[in-house]
Amino acid sequence: MKTVVLKFGGTSVGSIDRIKKVCKIIDIYKKKKYNVVVISSAMSGVTNDLVNKSKSISNNFDLAEYDALLSTGEQVSCALIAGRLNHIGLKSRSWLSWQLPIVTVGSHSGARINKINIKELNKYIKNGGVPVVTGFQGINKNYRITTIGRSGSDATAIMLAKYIKADECIIFTDVEGVYTTDPRQHKKAKKIKKIFYDEMLEMASLGSKVMQPTSIQDAKLNKIDIKVQSSFVSKSGTLITNSKKSFSDQIITGISSTKNDAKITIVGVKDSPGVAASIFKPLSKNLINVDMVVQNISQNGKNTDLTFTIKSEDLKKTEKLLKENKSILYKKLSFDRNVSKVSIIGVGMITTPGITYRMFQALASKKINILVISTSEIKISVLVSAKHVKKAIASLHKEFKLD
Ligand code: ADP
Ligand code: ASP
Ligand code: MG
Repeated sequence: MKTVVLKFGGTSVGSIDRIKKVCKIIDIYKKKKYNVVVISSAMSGVTNDLVNKSKSISNNFDLAEYDALLSTGEQVSCALIAGRLNHIGLKSRSWLSWQLPIVTVGSHSGARINKINIKELNKYIKNGGVPVVTGFQGINKNYRITTIGRSGSDATAIMLAKYIKADECIIFTDVEGVYTTDPRQHKKAKKIKKIFYDEMLEMASLGSKVMQPTSIQDAKLNKIDIKVQSSFVSKSGTLITNSKKSFSDQIITGISSTKNDAKITIVGVKDSPGVAASIFKPLSKNLINVDMVVQNISQNGKNTDLTFTIKSEDLKKTEKLLKENKSILYKKLSFDRNVSKVSIIGVGMITTPGITYRMFQALASKKINILVISTSEIKISVLVSAKHVKKAIASLHKEFKLD
């Protein structure tokens, strides 16, 4: 008998009606004689609401309690799913992460799954039951509840598929699969049939929220193929894989963009060894993630300008740290909180020259100014003013024949 892991995201279980529909999907797999393991996210909006509640209690809410709080959303959805499956005649029960357990390592709110004990799950499945497991959460070695980063139920599904040696892992969501760019932002976005792990990892890390980046790392490390499809309509979705069979010959596979980026420029900073390190040391100590960095070539050999990007929510803290940093001298600090990173991603660019030129030309033809550039083997990112993001995506989508 084949085993399938079915993961349902927040919108897919966003109402009682949606939960009933999801149970029908589960029933179809049971009727096809699959062993089924279900993972669910919290009902849509619930986790955000819990985050807001923690913020209104304290702006320095204890992280262990934050995890205990945020993990409650999944308990509700999983119990409702199991209850409905019982109602329609299937044997089912919910499993909270600590009841298996799902063991995590790393810090609260950003932990990572290290091990899953599947003994009880296996017994239950063998007896025809459908376990419904809470996504997004685990416990650490001190028996405290942890969470594994926002959108973490994707990673729970992939790690469970690994441990129970599932034949298939299907991520059910509110769009039909992975698209060339966010279909809610650009109407001409096209569904991708197959995408390599590396491309999906870049897209996810660069802002395509359809899959959580960590989950794709887990899938790649453990060679778990993932299907992404809709829980709303029954249509074929996207396969995320490493298998080279029947890939299209597109050079660029997808376009991603970020929200809530901020740019900081330190004008007239001394151009000497160690200065960049002294700028970034306090930021790293305070867990502020620095993304793109550029340093201008010094005109006089003495002073230069350094620009970097961070998440807008870290802007206030970063400004304070820079102003308090006595080990750097500069003329001026300038900030821009209305910037976004737009990226083109595709393994095809490794073997195709001229992609950078085509990207810059397409943006120039729409009079979009590029603020910062960064590249890797399979992606080119540019920082642009947030007001230009939609236009930039449309022009790149057309230029690389994704329309
Ligand atoms: P779930 O609650 O099912 O986990 P998410 O909201 O996390 O769903 O992810 C699905 C959303 O991701 C879609 O509604 C879509 O707007 C967004 N998205 C962003 N980029 C892409 C893309 N390239 N392809 C598909 N969806 C994308
Ligand atoms: N409910 C969690 C979140 O909103 C986890 C998930 O949706 O996967 O981030
Ligand atoms: Mg998600």
